[in-house]
Amino acid sequence: MTLPTIMNTYGRIPVSFTHGKGVYLYDADGNEYIDAISGIAVNALGHAHPLVSEAISLQAGALIHTSNLYGVERQEKLAKSLCEISGMDNVFFGNSGAEANEAAIKIARLYGHNQGIEHPDIIVMENAFHGRTMATLTASGNRKIQAGFEPLLGGFVRAPFADIEALENIAKNNSNIVAVLIEPVQGESGVNLLPDGYLKQLRELCNKHEWLMMLDEVQTGNGRTGSYFAYQQEQIFPDVVATAKGLGNGLPIGACLAKGKAAEVFQPGNHGSTYGGNPLVCAAAQVVVDTIKKEDLCNNAKEIGTYLLEGFKDSLSGNNLVKDIRGKGLMIGIELNNPCAELVDTARARGVLINVAAGNVVRLLPPLIINKEQARQILETVTTIINELAPTA
Ligand SMILES: *Cc1c(COP(=O)(O)O)cnc(C)c1O
Repeated sequence: MTLPTIMNTYGRIPVSFTHGKGVYLYDADGNEYIDAISGIAVNALGHAHPLVSEAISLQAGALIHTSNLYGVERQEKLAKSLCEISGMDNVFFGNSGAEANEAAIKIARLYGHNQGIEHPDIIVMENAFHGRTMATLTASGNRKIQAGFEPLLGGFVRAPFADIEALENIAKNNSNIVAVLIEPVQGESGVNLLPDGYLKQLRELCNKHEWLMMLDEVQTGNGRTGSYFAYQQEQIFPDVVATAKGLGNGLPIGACLAKGKAAEVFQPGNHGSTYGGNPLVCAAAQVVVDTIKKEDLCNNAKEIGTYLLEGFKDSLSGNNLVKDIRGKGLMIGIELNNPCAELVDTARARGVLINVAAGNVVRLLPPLIINKEQARQILETVTTIINELAPTA
């Protein structure tokens, strides 16, 4: 038996693509697919966006990398744009979502140590997903992701999602808490929403206990939920926000943004990344940030998201296989009563790329540039395949 030369870490869908354009992907046989997953919320501007391609090729022809030993002008410009758009004070650039969260976790620990807390604890949520590095898989609330990689890290305390009172109770018994890390919408575990007002209450709780409020907006950020960051819909600021995915439109970039006291924690030598925020990835991310703003893509995400959400609620009403339909902007989940992984294949056979999260939640994350006609195609196909599983009465 010959072993595949790629390590066996993914169960892959048996299709690959030769090129893409906008919301469409094409395979070697010339089949066209509408991409309702965007490389897992990455291709915010769709595929082969001319401005992204141009910025990358221009930058590649001038300068790709110099390291963070030197000033990186493109990185400074991108940081400024991100701070303007978010109200945060400063940024650390890494290469992925997990690294953005690692930076957040290190800020929280150092913040604790600076106050004389020797064993700082960070509150994290049930069913959270924060990445696959040792710290972020420990922070994740999914045994499948952790199993076999023990010993896990110390310093994390688990709490139920969307339950402020549970956090109050932890505060009573644990004076080592320094921060709370939470996704504004849990993505990997099936598009789980927080109730309106939760983030405001969390902000107040963090103020009261001098905890850092840290948001994992790796998936929800960069316009996905209808505002640049999800917290902007609640008129609050976190102390730390991690983002990645949509930021680079496919180039590897992660960012950890901080505000106020959290922005002053790191000092030279505390953290680093050899090519984090290099000129090439920052050139691409700059186009993403500028285009989201210029073309009002947050608003498009909100409008098309509402169209899809209401469309599904309407078209799937009466289907007793459907347990719940929920979403925020272009992050939509249709929860079924049964596991439905096979829908990925059924949809693909009809030219629509979807994802199933948590075993029974059809998850849609189309590019932010999607128009109504394209959204209607997704709505029709996904409705049809779910209704074929269990015809409406
Ligand atoms: C995808 C994701 C991560 C991990 O990002 P990587 O780039 O794969 O390291 C972390 N947090 C959330 C919420 C995510 O969706």
